[in-house]
Amino acid sequence: MKTIGLIGGLSWESTSVYYSYINRYVQQKLGGIHSAKCLIYSFDFEDIAALQRKGEWDKATDKMIKAAKCLEHGGAELIVICTNTMHLVADEIQRACKIPVIHIVESVIKEIKKQNITKIGLLGTKFTMEQTFYRRLLEQQNIDVLIPNVKQREDVHNIIFDELCRGEFSASSKSVYLDIINQLVQQGAEGIILGCTEIPLLISQEDTPIPLFDTTHIHAKNVVDLALNLDEVGMK
Ligand code: GLU
Repeated sequence: MKTIGLIGGLSWESTSVYYSYINRYVQQKLGGIHSAKCLIYSFDFEDIAALQRKGEWDKATDKMIKAAKCLEHGGAELIVICTNTMHLVADEIQRACKIPVIHIVESVIKEIKKQNITKIGLLGTKFTMEQTFYRRLLEQQNIDVLIPNVKQREDVHNIIFDELCRGEFSASSKSVYLDIINQLVQQGAEGIILGCTEIPLLISQEDTPIPLFDTTHIHAKNVVDLALNLDEVGMK
């Protein structure tokens, strides 16, 4: 089993879910009292969120690279960026490290392809929905990406930062998300990527018949398969 290096705290609400899933899958695969070999570098989320708000991505990249190198020097053999948004700088992190970064979008694409879906709705932070780093990888695989309208994107983004990353989960925010999901489906989406690692804390497959792609769950599961050599490793 390879040692997994997790860059977390973005936010810790979802890092704790990654930690549980990863250990649970290892135990399912290996049995007994096996658990994951892993290291976690956990940020104070405000430090990174402030740089995101100001658009200071270079400074955020430096911090992410420092975290990745810390994990590498500590013995990690795989890097996992435990957030969708910070994959905006995944290429830079990969270039700075010798060990592979397991890209969340590549993990998600494998699952979307298993369901033969070619048009997908994407929910996440404004950075994830509006910038090209995320959708480009999907489109390269001939998967069309639909995003909510401007006002809805604002709502999705604000709920993530003002509620989900603070551990607050309300029925009213859940219904805002479900309305947006339904509108994306009316526009032709065959499934929805929950492209923020905190959204699955609010919405689950039980809430809607539309296929949901829970990026936290999918990424964590793929990472375990890679750590146990049950799948191919590495960013393209
Ligand atoms: N965890 C969220 C994500 O998956 C948002 C945190 C962030 O902005 O880094 O995108």
